[in-house]
Amino acid sequence: MRIYNSLSREIEEVVPVKKGKIGMYTCGMTVYDYAHIGHGRKYVYDDVLRRILANNGWEVTHVQNVTDVGHLVSDEDEGEDKMEKGAKRAGKTVWEVARFFEKDFFETNDRLNILRPTVVARATDYISEMIELAAKLVGKGFAYDTPEAVYFDVGRWPRYDGLFGMKMSEKQTAVREGVRSGTYKKHPEDFALWFKRVGRFANHQMHWDSPWGDGFPGWHIECSAMAMKYLGATVDIHTGGVEHQMVHHPNEIAQSEGATSKQFVKYWVHYAHLMMDGAKMAKSVGNVLMVKDVEARGFSPMALRYLYLTAHYRTPLNFTWSSMAAAQRAYDKLKEFVVVARQKGTGVRAELSREKLKKLEGYGDRFGAAINNDMKLPEAMAVVWEMMKSNVPDLDKAEALLDWDGVLGLNLSAALVGGKAEPPIEVRELAAVRDTLRQQGFYVRADETRVEIEKMGWEVEDTKMGPKLKKITNY
Ligand SMILES: [Zn+2]
Repeated sequence: MRIYNSLSREIEEVVPVKKGKIGMYTCGMTVYDYAHIGHGRKYVYDDVLRRILANNGWEVTHVQNVTDVGHLVSDEDEGEDKMEKGAKRAGKTVWEVARFFEKDFFETNDRLNILRPTVVARATDYISEMIELAAKLVGKGFAYDTPEAVYFDVGRWPRYDGLFGMKMSEKQTAVREGVRSGTYKKHPEDFALWFKRVGRFANHQMHWDSPWGDGFPGWHIECSAMAMKYLGATVDIHTGGVEHQMVHHPNEIAQSEGATSKQFVKYWVHYAHLMMDGAKMAKSVGNVLMVKDVEARGFSPMALRYLYLTAHYRTPLNFTWSSMAAAQRAYDKLKEFVVVARQKGTGVRAELSREKLKKLEGYGDRFGAAINNDMKLPEAMAVVWEMMKSNVPDLDKAEALLDWDGVLGLNLSAALVGGKAEPPIEVRELAAVRDTLRQQGFYVRADETRVEIEKMGWEVEDTKMGPKLKKITNY
């Protein structure tokens, strides 16, 4: 498999540290609020990457952190701790807030058919590992103690400048005015490994004892401590949003490599953002949608996953309701196809002609080449639809789809279990139209709509809970 490495800025062949195994670390959520569908895109791509790696025969250990302490409002150590701020707003303890949003996060990911990581590491469970790492850096002269915090000294680590193509001079102009003043930092890019429970943090709810006194860890150090604990000094693949190229990931590299003198990560993978109305989806912009908002409009989480797959991971994806509806239609088509092909093809499977077999193998090869070439999923999806339109027999198409779905994760096989197919969006829309017509007394037109729905293979049953759609089984 080949992947674009943001560190070298080249597409490289993946060669893991240990033969047959891949260690993959993915930056996780700061659990102080609900995840939105911009986050969903990132975690679906992590999931697809993991599935592709496994598909190549590697045994993947996927580690993901849960940030429940230490992430301040800005990535540059300024403002309040996001967790403490969220707790204040909700009138709950920090621990309650963290557990609540962590649970919601993973349950939302379940609905997007994202596999749970091999290891989920909560920052608060690894305080001693973080202290140990910070102490090592102080001991080696890479970090220094001040009355407010222990800081990493980027001046002592020359490689810091220019990582991911981010020049220090550009970073400094990117940091907001006024943010840099009033601290004991030697250099504006120095970052906290350990905050002391003094001054603005005197009432911080979460705090632990350390060689530098009572306090709590900085955000960046958790990823280094937990990644190296589970995956060793050199991690094969580390992923994150493209915004982390500026501060978080350079900091992870600096503190890890400072401590071990070894390369921290072989391949850095960064995902572009989900956009809406031309702006990055973010709470600060106010254009946030959650998976449940998408569901409330009648779309399924799996159709959202399909939508994510239509843009390459290094290209921003612009979310619109019409692209969502198109994704739902395409997804429904695939799912229906698999169900119907299986229902029709219960007899003996015909042997494929040499021509068709060759064609089918060709599609398989091209699908494999697309996913293994820097996760080119739009290309892979184009192969899917080309095959769908071909003269390959339906049952063979369905088998190929189910096989490829091991990577795409669209859960197409779920439609086969118990034959509980979800009605496609056109059917649901018609059912809603029919319901409105009935309520307004247009019974003849409502009945015509019912016939139309039946032609599409669905039956409407009026229940106390409203109309219910049932698949016509011999359709
Ligand atoms: Zn991280």
